[in-house]
Amino acid sequence: MSLGGRPAVTKRETLLAACSLAPPLSEGACAWCGAERPDRRKTWCSDRCGDAFWANHWWSVARQSAKRRDRYRCRRCGTRAPKRPVESAHKTRKAYVAAMRSWRKEKRTGRMEVNHIVPCAGAHGELSCAHHLENLETLCPACHKAHTATLRPRKHAPQPGAEELSGAALSTGLP
Ligand SMILES: [Zn+2]
Ligand SMILES: [Zn+2]
Ligand SMILES: [Zn+2]
Repeated sequence: MSLGGRPAVTKRETLLAACSLAPPLSEGACAWCGAERPDRRKTWCSDRCGDAFWANHWWSVARQSAKRRDRYRCRRCGTRAPKRPVESAHKTRKAYVAAMRSWRKEKRTGRMEVNHIVPCAGAHGELSCAHHLENLETLCPACHKAHTATLRPRKHAPQPGAEELSGAALSTGLP
């Protein structure tokens, strides 16, 4: 039995030690870019480096970042997601609400999805190097479905339920 002394190793540290994008961990250096780290900061030299870490390792952030990088366009067929209406571009609130309504309807079928090029083996809920942006591609639902079918010819396609639910829950703010 050991009496302490060993620092607790967090999941993030273990991951960073093995991450192909991060520099070797070293005392006083940013764990993402390797630059000198200000004393008041614990892991990163700047918010930017922290954000870059999350964008490459945490699914919900990585997914958004991948879509933004691909400009909301399917990497295989070039289909583009319907654009969310901007309130200031509408003369009246009524016009905006109507535009939002048809956008939401369109989004149900035109919504872009993000695929792991090397499958992530169910790592959606954890910090993982499977979410590196270079391993992600934005696909339209049809191309994603076709891709998934080539991966698992014998199984049912995974249900997009969870994602769809949270998306719907987030976008129902308007009457
Ligand atoms: Zn940095
Ligand atoms: Zn497509
Ligand atoms: Zn990584």
